[in-house]
Amino acid sequence: MESAATALEEVRGNIARVCKPARRKPEDVTLIAVSKTKGVDAIQPLIDAGQRVFGENRVQEAAAKWPALREAHPDIELHLIGQLQSNKAEEAVALFDCIHSLDRPSLLTALAKAMDKAGRRVPCFVQVNIGDEEQKGGCPIADLPAFLEAVRAAGIPLAGLMCIPPADIEPAPFFALLAKLAADHGLKGLSMGMSGDYETAVMLGATHVRVGTALFGARG
Ligand SMILES: *Cc1c(COP(=O)(O)O)cnc(C)c1O
Repeated sequence: MESAATALEEVRGNIARVCKPARRKPEDVTLIAVSKTKGVDAIQPLIDAGQRVFGENRVQEAAAKWPALREAHPDIELHLIGQLQSNKAEEAVALFDCIHSLDRPSLLTALAKAMDKAGRRVPCFVQVNIGDEEQKGGCPIADLPAFLEAVRAAGIPLAGLMCIPPADIEPAPFFALLAKLAADHGLKGLSMGMSGDYETAVMLGATHVRVGTALFGARG
């Protein structure tokens, strides 16, 4: 396995390379290093190499790993990228700087209440079920206008839209659709692209890419 610094340089280089023809600036793309299942021994070298934005998909795991690391590095930003149960909303609001998985009215209610109680507003991406898949999380496209209105009415800072396209199909059309939906609703943030497709996502406007395997190696 190559070093963390080399992997990071490679991913950053790839982002910069595709930004050029897309007429975008690399600094407009936030690289979220997805550290789920990875221990502090794997995360620390990436911090040492300068990475400061990390993503986790489980509240419990993040609560176990990150408080000590954040104490040592107060400039770290932690993003929740995985599905969130309403009963974990309070913990998520306390722990994360951004939530990428706001996708249903019950969770909106729970998050709004948790943010009021904590006196802390955490920006949220609304996750869209972009491939209209049966068991997948995400707000149905048809429900998106009403849901976005409800999020705005609840006073939750809206970071933008997020999607996970269907597996094993060319992702570009789904990224393009998410970008169009965001533009239609006056939203700038686009959380899309993972290890296998972040370059395509950047060319189609991603502002946040969520990259795990390409930085940390395969998950066990
Ligand atoms: C695990 C995960 C990623 C990162 O996936 P890789 O293929 O390892 O880069 C991105 N987004 C979400 C929502 C994930 O759960």
